[in-house]
Amino acid sequence: MSNTIDDIGISTTGERQAIVSVPGTTADKDWVIVARGLKREYDMGGEIVRALRGVDLAIRRNEYVAIMGPSGSGKSTLMNLIGCLDSPNGGEYWLNGMLVSTMSDDQLARVRNKEIGFVFQTFNLLPRATALQNVELPLVYAGIPADERKKRATEALESVQLGPRLHHRPNELSGGQRQRVAIARALVNRPSILLADEPTGNLDSTTSQEIMRVFEGLSSQGQTVVMVTHEPDIAAHARRVVVLRDGLVESDERRERFVDRVGLAHATTRVAHD
Ligand code: ADP
Ligand code: MG
Repeated sequence: MSNTIDDIGISTTGERQAIVSVPGTTADKDWVIVARGLKREYDMGGEIVRALRGVDLAIRRNEYVAIMGPSGSGKSTLMNLIGCLDSPNGGEYWLNGMLVSTMSDDQLARVRNKEIGFVFQTFNLLPRATALQNVELPLVYAGIPADERKKRATEALESVQLGPRLHHRPNELSGGQRQRVAIARALVNRPSILLADEPTGNLDSTTSQEIMRVFEGLSSQGQTVVMVTHEPDIAAHARRVVVLRDGLVESDERRERFVDRVGLAHATTRVAHD
C-alpha cells in the first residue's frame, strides 16, 4: 500500500523550493546542502564520461540520508562534490549558505576542513599512529594547540566508546574499532556534515550493525549524515534514501522516525524533484 504525503503529514514543498528558487541565490540556513543541476564530466582522452548529468538535491540540517544506486551511477562522484573534494562542471552547489561550486581549490580546502567529516570504506588510518594520534591529525592541520588537541580527540574517541583504546595502533584494533577511530577523526572538527562512502563495505554484518548504531546515535544527537551504500539493510537505517541511476536522481524517499517505531516499514513519502 502506498501512502500519500498527507497520510504522514510531511510537506515536500520545502525541497522543491530550495532547489528551484532563483539560481545564484542562497537557500534558507536550514538547508545544509542545496545542489541544483549538478554536472560532472570526465574527459578520458577524447571520450566524455558524464558521471553526473544534472543532480538536484536539497538536504536539511539533521537529516540522515542514504545514497544508493548501481555501480557507476555516480555515487562517489556526488559524494566528492558534496564533500568539497572536487568541483562540478555545471550547476550550483551551496553548502551552509555558501556557494562552493565556484570556489578556488584553496577556498574549497578551507571549507572542507571546517564543514566536512569523511569516513571511507578502507578506514584510511595512519598505521604507525595510535588511535589518539590519528584522531588528533585534523586538529594538527587546523593549528589547534597540543593540550586542546588531546582533550578533543579523547572526547571524540570516548563518544564512539573507544575511551579504553586511545593508545592502540590500527593493527591492534578490530575492523569495527578501526572504523570507529575513523568516525571519531571525522567528527573531531565538529563538521556540519558527516559523509561516509560505503562505511561498512569492509565489515562483516555484525560489525556493520555496530557501526550503524554509532551513526544512529550521532544522528539522534543532531549530526547531519550522508552515507553511500549499495546494501539495502544498511540504507534501511537512514531516514531518507536517494537512488541514483546514470548520473541522475531516480528516486528520493523519506521515512520518518515514528513510522519506524510503529513498524510501518513501507510508509514513505516521495521527495519532490519536479
Ligand atoms: P559509483 O560510486 O556509483 O560506483 P562513480 O561516481 O565512481 O560511481 O562513477 C561514475 C562514472 O564516472 C563511472 O562511469 C566512472 O567510470 C566514471 N568516473 C568516476 N571517477 C572518474 C575519474 N576520476 N575519471 C574518469 N572517469 C571517472
Ligand atoms: Mg563509489
